Amino acid sequence: MKIRAAVLEEFGQPLQVQELDLEGPKAGEVLVKIEACGVCHTDLYTASGADPSGYVPTVLGHEGAGFVEAVGEGVTLVRPGDHVITLFSPECGVCIHCTSGKTNLCMAIRETQGQGVMPDGTPRLSRDGEPIRHFMGTSTFAEYTVMPEIALAKINKEAESDVVCTLACGAATGLGAAMYRAQVEPGSTCAVFGTGLVGLGAVAGCKIQGAERIIAVDLSADRLEVAKHYGATDLIVAGGGDVDPVQQILDMTDGFGADYTFEATGLVGVMAQAVEAARMGWGVCTVLGVAGKGETLAIVPRFLITGRTVIGGSFGGTRGRTNVPQLVDMYLEGNLDLDGFISHRITLDEVNKGFELMEAQDGIRSVITF
Ligand SMILES: [Zn+2]
Ligand SMILES: [Zn+2]
Repeated sequence: MKIRAAVLEEFGQPLQVQELDLEGPKAGEVLVKIEACGVCHTDLYTASGADPSGYVPTVLGHEGAGFVEAVGEGVTLVRPGDHVITLFSPECGVCIHCTSGKTNLCMAIRETQGQGVMPDGTPRLSRDGEPIRHFMGTSTFAEYTVMPEIALAKINKEAESDVVCTLACGAATGLGAAMYRAQVEPGSTCAVFGTGLVGLGAVAGCKIQGAERIIAVDLSADRLEVAKHYGATDLIVAGGGDVDPVQQILDMTDGFGADYTFEATGLVGVMAQAVEAARMGWGVCTVLGVAGKGETLAIVPRFLITGRTVIGGSFGGTRGRTNVPQLVDMYLEGNLDLDGFISHRITLDEVNKGFELMEAQDGIRSVITF
C-alpha cells in the first residue's frame, strides 16, 4: 500500500514527508493505522547524526498510538480493531530476560530491530523498489506501520490516541522509573533533575507512589511550574552561577540527601549531581537521560561506599505489554494526568516544526495527529 511518512534522508537535514510503499504484515506482524505520534528527543538525536548507530534513509518516530488494521499469519496477541500503543521496547514474555522478572529489556528481536529490519531480516518499507529501513522497530511518523505483535501494547479503546501516545516513550519512561525501576516507597523524599516529559513523568510517578516530598530541579521556571502541578513540593531553578542544586537538596534534607534521585537530562554533569544528592546509607539514583557519544559518568567512589546505589532504566523499566495498558487505565480512571504533558498538536507535514519547538525548549511535548 501507499503511505505518507516522514523520511530522514540525510543526517542534519529536515525530514521529508513523502509517499512510500508499505508491504503488508508477514507472520507474527501487524499493520497499524497510526492516529497520533509524539515527537521525542531520540528522533531529533538520530536525525542530527549524533547517534553512532543511526542510519539513513529511515522513517523516524516511536511514540505512536493507533488501531490494528490487519494481522499476519499466526498473530494471536492482537486483532483488527484493537487499540494499541507502539513499543520500541517489546515484551515477548518468553525470552531469558522477560522470564527473569528482573528487567524489561526483551531479547527477542533486539538484533534485527537495531538493524532497522523486521525479525525475518527484511524491511516492509520501500520507495520505487529501494528498501527503507525501520527506526526503533516502530517508524511511526507515518500513516501506517508494520510491527511485530510483541511490540504492541493492547489498550482500552476509550483512550484518546493523541494523549496516550506519550506512554509509548517519554511519559512512561519517567513514570516507570519511579514506579517500577526505583519502586519509590511511600513517605520518601525524591529529587528529580530535569523536568522535560521524562522528568515530569518521574515527578508524577513519585507522587503516585506516595512520596512525601518531591524536589524538582530545572533551568526553566516555567517547566518547574508544570512540575508543581504534577506533585513537586520544592522547586530549584538551576543554572545560575551561585546555585548549587546538590547543596540546596542537602540543606532541605538535614544534610542527608534524597531517598531517591532521578536524572532526566542526558547531561553527565547532572547525572553526577543526582548521585551526590542521593542520601547517604540508602539513596538510589536512577539515570534516565541518554548521554552524548563517548561521554562517561564520573563518580567519587566514596559516594558508593557510603551506601548510595546508581541504577538506570531504558523505558524506565516499564514492561510494555504489561504496564502500558495499566498506565492507560490509570489515565482513564482520572488518576494520572497525561493531558498536561501535551503542549502542541501538529500535522505530519509540520514534523520539522516539532523538532524546532524541542530545540527552542518551547513546551513539553508536540504530538502529530493524523
Ligand atoms: Zn522477551
Ligand atoms: Zn522517545
